[in-house]
Amino acid sequence: MTKDSDLKQQFYDVVIVGGGMVGAAQAVALAKQQKRVLVIEKTIPDATVLQQTPLRVSAINLASEKYLSELGIWPHINQSSKCMFNQLATWEQRHKPLVFSAEDIGTEHLGHLIRNEALQLAAFDEINVLGQNNPEIMTGCKINKIEQTNEYATLFVSDMDNDNTNVNFNTINCSLLIGADGAFSQVRNLSDIGTTGWDYQQHCLSLTIKTQFPTQHITWQEFQPSGPKAFLPLEDGYSALIWYDAAEEIKKLSALTNEQLKAQVLNRFPALVGEFDVVAKAAFPLTRRQANQYVKGRVVLVGDSAHTINPLAGQGVNIGYKDVEELSKLLTEIDMSERAALFQALSKYEKTRKTESLIMSAAMDSFYSLFSNNKTAMKLVRTGLLNLANKFEWAKKQVLKKAVGY
Ligand SMILES: Cc1cc2nc3c(=O)[nH]c(=O)nc-3n(C[C@H](O)[C@H](O)[C@H](O)COP(=O)(O)OP(=O)(O)OC[C@H]3O[C@@H](n4cnc5c(N)ncnc54)[C@H](O)[C@@H]3O)c2cc1C
Repeated sequence: MTKDSDLKQQFYDVVIVGGGMVGAAQAVALAKQQKRVLVIEKTIPDATVLQQTPLRVSAINLASEKYLSELGIWPHINQSSKCMFNQLATWEQRHKPLVFSAEDIGTEHLGHLIRNEALQLAAFDEINVLGQNNPEIMTGCKINKIEQTNEYATLFVSDMDNDNTNVNFNTINCSLLIGADGAFSQVRNLSDIGTTGWDYQQHCLSLTIKTQFPTQHITWQEFQPSGPKAFLPLEDGYSALIWYDAAEEIKKLSALTNEQLKAQVLNRFPALVGEFDVVAKAAFPLTRRQANQYVKGRVVLVGDSAHTINPLAGQGVNIGYKDVEELSKLLTEIDMSERAALFQALSKYEKTRKTESLIMSAAMDSFYSLFSNNKTAMKLVRTGLLNLANKFEWAKKQVLKKAVGY
């Protein structure tokens, strides 16, 4: 168990398990309210990871950009790990593209594609400059049990030695325990919070390409009968291609060499604007999952531990940042030792965030089934919708505002 300072007193206002993009941002937000915060994270990446080929990237919308700026995280984001886009295009194969532009809603851009590690590291950079109020950080420990009393929640943690045996048992008490430990949340499981959801039939393959063309500030998606094919611009001469297809097909593609994959891309993707090479790949199953409760006593879930949605419209971490914003806002004036006030805030959080995330999941599902369906009726509906949106500026603006988080 390594920590940036001694555990002076094992009592915290807030313990956050998971210092990913969402958990680390949550730590910044609560530390800025002078709350005593401990972050427990498996491993924090070293900044040198940003010199390696990018693989996991997220489209960050304008609402998240604004919130991360307010938290002081945005300026720390590594410049060459983020790429602005000011256009977003979508079309059904062989049909006219529907193009959304920043100027349609009077903004300079629509969002940024950012490496996940760069977002996480930027939050830890801000944690490190918080000075006296900076959250404490603990890495490499195992959480064995979670208990709650009327007054506090307790985490039972230990180290693992080289033989995988638990050693150095310790307990940590806190007024509030936040699970920000991702889709397979241990906090959620150890708190006996069930989930509801399913796996989608399609999987996706993310390909990083090294490009010999200038950075494109457009992100596009073509809907094909077998699944969408998307282009995401990145900086530093890289871009990402996202290939949605049947699970079996993605498995087969994953086994190909980079050269073979390039041939497949040339065959199945719309033409790119110049030469490229495939340099990295990663396959992901697509899962929809909702925690049955976002709050249980003194335990609260944020980010993917509370919900995972279809990444088709790139909203997952943006919803996670909304969780952070809402929870932090509700806790602003709360004295963490005041049980009734704390529980009231948590109950409001659950109500607001669960409703919004269910609406977003349902919207993604309708979108997914509409565009991943080859039945003639569905094809007519989606072509009709895209044509309508192309004709009516008002409808187009509403869709765009939703996408940027306004
Ligand atoms: C293919 C794909 C593309 C996507 N594209 C987008 C996109 O364009 N835009 C978007 O908004 N979203 C996108 N998403 C979703 C986005 O990646 C997730 O919503 C986001 O990663 C959630 O962040 P998180 O911090 O909640 O969880 P995670 O990123 O999973 O982080 C969890 C953290 O908790 C730590 N942890 C886990 N267990 C423990 C433990 N027991 N103890 C200590 N630490 C622990 C982990 O090490 C990790 O750092 C995409 C997802 C996929 C699969």
